[in-house]
Amino acid sequence: MVYEGRGEPDQTWWYLIAMIAVGTLLLVSLLLAHYIWLNRRLRHEARLHQEVETVLRKQQDELVRLANTDPLTGVWNRLKFEGEAKHEVARAERYDLSLSLIFLDLDHFKEVNDRYGHAMGDAILREMCERVKDSLRDSDHLCRWGGEEFLILVPHADLDRATLLAEKLRHAVADVPAAHGQPMSVSLGVVSRESGDTLEDLVRKADVALYRAKSRGRNRVEVYHPGDQSGLP
Ligand code: GH3
Ligand code: MG
Ligand code: MG
Repeated sequence: MVYEGRGEPDQTWWYLIAMIAVGTLLLVSLLLAHYIWLNRRLRHEARLHQEVETVLRKQQDELVRLANTDPLTGVWNRLKFEGEAKHEVARAERYDLSLSLIFLDLDHFKEVNDRYGHAMGDAILREMCERVKDSLRDSDHLCRWGGEEFLILVPHADLDRATLLAEKLRHAVADVPAAHGQPMSVSLGVVSRESGDTLEDLVRKADVALYRAKSRGRNRVEVYHPGDQSGLP
């Protein structure tokens, strides 16, 4: 009688072990399926995150571009120019580097607007900027200072070099008829940095030279010489 019941507990054991094994297998399969699902979900989320980040970065770049450029011509606006130019002036002062500024103004531009319309005036402004940009180096900074007035900051250029550049710009505009089929011209004032000059000083001095270019007949380059005080407060 002692040995008669031996087989039953064995069977129950095997049955239990089988149930546990099946249960474990089921659990492992479930966990594996969950892991695979989670993994896919995470990769999907990461892809979405990357896409959103790319869009945001593009939007941010666009915002920075809009904040820095003049919408009509695409060149630097006054705000951006002032920030960069002040930095260049401080650098030139610290390391005693040459630095020049050119003030450019379209001649008789009001007449163009009056005769050919504002849209044609806009087209001429854009075209003039393209021609000027083509004559500049990457390190030169072109800015729309306002209306039909532009500033060009020329790092590492003394007065002679900046004057040559101004002549080159004058020719770039005057030698080819503009969008309205008529000749256009610009007047330019050039100044080179003296020790202690601020950006405001340079703009004021270049403006004095520009004024002289206008009063001497336009379509010409005039230079501000050190000690030349006319027009300065
Ligand atoms: P000057 O040779 O003495 O510089 O004469 P000017 O006619 O060029 O100068 P003035 O200051 O009398 O006129 C500037 C003109 O520039 C007047 C204004 O309508 C025009 N202007 C300013 N900004 C723009 C613009 O964004 N688009 C157009 N089409 N015209 C503009
Ligand atoms: Mg003008
Ligand atoms: Mg003007």
